[in-house]
Amino acid sequence: MKLINYLIIQIIPFLPKVFVRLVASPYIAGITDDEMLVNVQKLNNKGYEVAIDILGEHVTTQEEATEITERYANLYDRISSKQLDANLSIKLSHIGQDLGYDVVKSNLMILVNAAKKHNNFLRLDMENSPYTSETINLYKKAFENYSNVGIVLQAYMHRSKDDLDKLANEKFNVRICKGIYIESEDIAYRDYQKIRDNYIILTKEALIKGAYVGIATHDEYLIDKLYLWIKENQIPTTQYEFQILHGVPMEKKLQQLIKEGNKVRVYVPYGDNWYDYSVRRLKENPKMAGYIIKNIFIKILGR
Ligand SMILES: Cc1cc2nc3c(=O)[nH]c(=O)nc-3n(C[C@H](O)[C@H](O)[C@H](O)COP(=O)(O)OP(=O)(O)OC[C@H]3O[C@@H](n4cnc5c(N)ncnc54)[C@H](O)[C@@H]3O)c2cc1C
Repeated sequence: MKLINYLIIQIIPFLPKVFVRLVASPYIAGITDDEMLVNVQKLNNKGYEVAIDILGEHVTTQEEATEITERYANLYDRISSKQLDANLSIKLSHIGQDLGYDVVKSNLMILVNAAKKHNNFLRLDMENSPYTSETINLYKKAFENYSNVGIVLQAYMHRSKDDLDKLANEKFNVRICKGIYIESEDIAYRDYQKIRDNYIILTKEALIKGAYVGIATHDEYLIDKLYLWIKENQIPTTQYEFQILHGVPMEKKLQQLIKEGNKVRVYVPYGDNWYDYSVRRLKENPKMAGYIIKNIFIKILGR
């Protein structure tokens, strides 16, 4: 499989864009705001809540950072006027983190105020390790202003347990994921089972301390194990939700979870930046290539 993934990544730059679009399309909920909002409505109709993400990261000019911030702020208005069950999940590097602390803080506060205006929620995605500490600091600043904000901790990072120890309480809202970036083994677990084990430790600790947890994984081993523990420990359904990426084929499992009274939130990326994003993600995480091939086969076999 490793060889197939490697070969796919090597040929991507030479493939017509339309082919990459075809392959990436299950993961992307449209190009325009309108297209995406139609998809959000469809997901809501099936019982899913949504976290919206405009594709893109690491903007290099203030104009781009302002444009994205305004687009996100406007989405809160549109979510509210259409009465959708959706919140926003943003990358700080997309609203100017590389342009300096003051720029990103000011744009973040615009979004915090927009969320506050509509009594909605804002989550800060976690990017790669050079951004972790600043993301946590900015999360704290945002929280001082409005408590309905959340952050992400990555189970592969050694530091996440410490971060959680410091942050977790009844007002803390955390998404726990494995982590998607390539990190050095000095600071991150590489071993598959160790990441899973840490994922379980972090999720249990957060729940025990009363935090709200977004259990963001497609790994059924983790979902089943944690769900069993949640039921055994009578953790209320108001204290957690399952989260998955748009397009990952696990409808049956998710519908079952919803039927049993659980919240399931779909992370919905969209926007015109889909090509760069798809290629970058594929290069960063060759396993994605394997998932995509698996997806295509599932579609062909009609399962
Ligand atoms: C809602 C959500 C938000 C996230 N936010 C962040 C973030 O802020 N920062 C960050 O670093 N990472 C984030 N991630 C990515 C995460 O860290 C993992 O890289 C990603 O979810 C794959 O890990 P997994 O837990 O699904 O386990 P894996 O072991 O990678 O996957 C388990 C199984 O799920 C299936 N699968 C997994 N991913 C896919 C896919 N894309 N397509 C098809 N099948 C798939 C495969 O069958 C695989 O065998 C997020 C993930 C989710 C679901």
